[in-house]
Amino acid sequence: MQSGSFRLFQIAGITVFLHFSWFIVAAYQVTTMRGRYQSPVFALYEYMALFTLVLMHEFGHALACRQVGGHAEQIVLWPLGGIAFVSPPPRAGAMLWSIAAGPLVNVALAPVLELLLFFAGQSGWRYLAPDTLALIYYIRTINLLLLVFNLLPVYPLDGGQILRALLWFPLGRTRSLQIASVIGLLGGAAFALYAFSIGSMWIGIMAFFLLSQAWAGWQQAGALAAEDREVVRLRSEASERPIL
Ligand SMILES: [Zn+2]
Repeated sequence: MQSGSFRLFQIAGITVFLHFSWFIVAAYQVTTMRGRYQSPVFALYEYMALFTLVLMHEFGHALACRQVGGHAEQIVLWPLGGIAFVSPPPRAGAMLWSIAAGPLVNVALAPVLELLLFFAGQSGWRYLAPDTLALIYYIRTINLLLLVFNLLPVYPLDGGQILRALLWFPLGRTRSLQIASVIGLLGGAAFALYAFSIGSMWIGIMAFFLLSQAWAGWQQAGALAAEDREVVRLRSEASERPIL
């Protein structure tokens, strides 16, 4: 049980939790999106679609992580999106696949939604079912925005974690995390400045989240570096031992 969350359902051994604050944000979002549609209930459908897209993305992470022999038992949905609690085996390839599988779900959905929008536009829904057409348009756009945002190379966003996994191959687990978390801190600071300049509370909260997670990554890299030094020390001690 995650604090402030309650259990929604379980699929394939993965339990989905919903954070209570989701309802406050959902109410706010549905009220502001109502203007997009003739019938206000479509704003609710749009929010449910966002929820489903995020959930599918998180299941991409969780299932890929299990495929490479890692653990993934929980997904939490909260206002800034979803979090799949995954612990892939500590290998660059396993890490890379577990992270990349999330955005790949959005990549796979993109042409499907694009085709759906194309045919809906062709079939006269503009007049017959304008709300349904608008809904498809927004779902397609949200999917693309989720993809682009998640691929920003700002650790701990997926793009930042993919960068870290790629750097792991030539540079090892410690150096790759150091570099990714520094880029994450710079990116988080840029988001904070942007939030401040346009006065957006949501972007501000997200910037704070990114900065705190990038900082945690930097500290984790520090712990890994200490571990590495210890291994080197033990090895050199072992080699110094006189042979009798
Ligand atoms: Zn993701």
